[in-house]
Amino acid sequence: MKNIDLYNLKGKRALIRVDFNVPLDDKFNITDDNRIMAALPTIRKVLDSGGSVILMSHFGRPKDGPQDKYSLCHLLPGIEQRLGKKVKFADDCIGEQAGSMSENLKPGEVLLLENLRFYKEEEKGDENFAKKLALLGDVYINDAFGTAHRAHASTSIIARFFPGASLFGYLMQDEVSNLEKVVKHAEKPFTAILGGAKVSGKIEIINNLIEKVDNLIIGGGMMFTFIKAMGGKVGNSLIEEELVETAREAMAKAKARGVKLLIPTDTMIADGFSNDAAKKLCSVMEIPDGWMGLDIGPETIKTFTAVIMSSKTILWNGPMGVFEFDNFESGTKEIAQAIAKATAAGTYSLVGGGDSVAAVGKFDLADKVSYVSTGGGAMLEYIEGKELPGVTAILKE
Ligand code: AMP
Repeated sequence: MKNIDLYNLKGKRALIRVDFNVPLDDKFNITDDNRIMAALPTIRKVLDSGGSVILMSHFGRPKDGPQDKYSLCHLLPGIEQRLGKKVKFADDCIGEQAGSMSENLKPGEVLLLENLRFYKEEEKGDENFAKKLALLGDVYINDAFGTAHRAHASTSIIARFFPGASLFGYLMQDEVSNLEKVVKHAEKPFTAILGGAKVSGKIEIINNLIEKVDNLIIGGGMMFTFIKAMGGKVGNSLIEEELVETAREAMAKAKARGVKLLIPTDTMIADGFSNDAAKKLCSVMEIPDGWMGLDIGPETIKTFTAVIMSSKTILWNGPMGVFEFDNFESGTKEIAQAIAKATAAGTYSLVGGGDSVAAVGKFDLADKVSYVSTGGGAMLEYIEGKELPGVTAILKE
């Protein structure tokens, strides 16, 4: 690991790639500050070590060049308040003004650069643009794990201009070392729990995980494609006909490798996609027409819980049902509680991927699992077995 704790930052200008792509309301108030809070330890580390900080980030999806609504200047008050410090602002992320502001930064000072995506060169991974950014710092730190799966100028290409001075920030380091714990060094038995709406988008994850896990639990909307592959009647449940064959292949692959693939046996069905729909329990193989499965049933919860409790490593991605509806939340809630219980008993658990993070939040269990990954797409690509350009770039320099 290119650890910032092992690097002398005194008197150095640290160019830090952060992910400040936070949601704002129409008065530019920050409505969720998790990403800013997550970057503070790295920023403080540089400042406390006698260095200065230059922050760069993308923000929103500007189309053709600068657009006021995507200016990072709107975040200044919020960043200053959370950091407890004045922050300078450069209207452009490259060029003369940014250059002289960075040049004149004193130890302990912080400069925020304008939105990187005002230049199309950022997402194109343009080397010349990366070189111009690189002029602004003496050392490069990447702390934006959420964009680590993109080979953009500021997340990957730039590292080549900092040989021996490309480092991981604390957030990035945490994400990578926790993901490595499950993908590379999982203690067995290793159980992966996959849910969420669809099989599509998760095929590569399923295929990669089958090669690593002892147990693969399937829940959520994606279970019905598997049930169809097993010859069941799924009624009006979510189904991807074109992936039934893929599900069948996954089942065969799991069997051949001795992986226990756990598919639900009972489901809570509803007569409509609504919290107030009529509901009843049903075997997964016999869902009547006009009804759809919106959660896993109690028998399934019991089986899954037993497997979870006997695991040493757990990876959870995707809810077991439509947990946003209170009447169909119990499968997701009880599985989350089982993971928390296993964690308390010494199991390592990693939860990641948008909706499972929202689910542990809803049930107040975020601090009862070992690690909650905020990586989204980057985390999913990592568990698909792909290399992350943002990580590789730093390891190479
Ligand atoms: P994903 O983004 O693929 O992880 O899917 C998450 C979404 O899947 C959540 O919003 C859930 O409401 C939804 N979901 C989970 N189970 C089901 C189900 N049985 N039927 C329809 N949607 C579901």
